[in-house]
Amino acid sequence: MSEQETHEKQEQEQLILDTVDKFLQKEVRPYAIELETSDTYPDEIVEQMKAMGLFGCIIPEEYGGLGLSASTYAKVIELISREWMSLSGIVNSHLIMAYVTLRQGTEQQKQHFLPRFATGEIRGGLALTEPNCGTDLQAIRTVAKRDGDDYVINGSKTWISNGIKGSCYALLVKTDPQANPRHAGMSMFLAEKRDGFNVGRKLKKLGYKGIDSAELIFENYRIPAGCLIGEQEGKGLQTALSGLSLGRINVAARGVGVAQRALSESLSYSQVRETFGQPICQHQAIQLKLADMATKTEAARLLVKQAADALDRGERCDLEAGMAKLFASEAAVHNSMEAMRIHGAYGYSPELVIERLYRDAPLLAIGEGTNEIQRTVIAKRLIEKYPV
Ligand SMILES: Cc1cc2nc3c(=O)[nH]c(=O)nc-3n(C[C@H](O)[C@H](O)[C@H](O)COP(=O)(O)OP(=O)(O)OC[C@H]3O[C@@H](n4cnc5c(N)ncnc54)[C@H](O)[C@@H]3O)c2cc1C
Repeated sequence: MSEQETHEKQEQEQLILDTVDKFLQKEVRPYAIELETSDTYPDEIVEQMKAMGLFGCIIPEEYGGLGLSASTYAKVIELISREWMSLSGIVNSHLIMAYVTLRQGTEQQKQHFLPRFATGEIRGGLALTEPNCGTDLQAIRTVAKRDGDDYVINGSKTWISNGIKGSCYALLVKTDPQANPRHAGMSMFLAEKRDGFNVGRKLKKLGYKGIDSAELIFENYRIPAGCLIGEQEGKGLQTALSGLSLGRINVAARGVGVAQRALSESLSYSQVRETFGQPICQHQAIQLKLADMATKTEAARLLVKQAADALDRGERCDLEAGMAKLFASEAAVHNSMEAMRIHGAYGYSPELVIERLYRDAPLLAIGEGTNEIQRTVIAKRLIEKYPV
């Protein structure tokens, strides 16, 4: 890329980030606490996000999206998560569905689905987890049986983000439950809601409110064979895993956003709250916290950048994305707790943002591969990369 092109790209990125930030300050910040505490889906905000093209962030321009790089997308997600992490969830799992379609779908599937994903006309997410399994995805029990030009699907999913408000999901099933190895019998469909596709309970949660997490139930749900991603059975796990690095960068970027907000609030509050005749930021115990919070936030941001840049260069980046996800999510958990300590009783009140950050952060250690699994993935990759 020439110097001129790099400069234009940077200007374009800054314009996008400024636009998103303006929108967040005007349309989200004043309403986030109220919407979150009442667990209300932000319909109006979602309409504005549609108009801004955010549901097509990483969808290439040829399919009607904004065609952002992973690194710009991560910065957008960080900004959104500083204001309200749930909003990033509405976009993130939708875009993983788009991303796996882009990576593994046929040209016909891309042309059919991606432009409508990009405008937000069809929104949705990823339906992998079942009541009996989350980490061990090869243990899923939802089955799709071929019947003429269709498949008939039976089974259930749980904890599906956008499960109520969405209309289409990248749905992981077994097309051959007896296959050995188990993944050879797994397939993934782009499943739109219609007869036989029912939504169960809206699930209650500690945090991450406003966005709907729900059970999905399939009872003789008939889907055309043309909706099988890649139109080839047995590639489902591979398809799901192809979205994983971007998924982990998403979650890591959310972690940076939450960690940054906890830091910014603490930095401000500690300069105005006084004890023993001076602002609490003058007490060394508080300074130690601020220093650790800031260092973790910056380190997390750099890990996200490293992973996103590698993805943009088309390199394998599971190691980098895993490290970013692990570190940034733990930074968010750490900083939100420290922010609560710094804010004292006010940190414990739902009138300030701190208690929401504290409730939102732990999800980042669970979703998109728990942090226990993240560590095993990192270690396995290191052993593979540096054999003796
Ligand atoms: C708010 C929310 C939103 C979600 N959204 C979605 C969504 O949109 N789509 C979707 O498909 N799922 C979604 N999930 C589910 C999420 O992906 C799973 O919760 C996650 O994958 C972990 O699975 P599990 O809860 O079944 O835990 P389990 O797999 O039962 O794990 C339980 C514990 O055992 C540990 N463990 C498991 N196996 C190993 C191992 N081999 N080595 C070491 N430790 C291990 C885990 O780290 C964890 O600590 C969501 C969950 C939540 C809470």
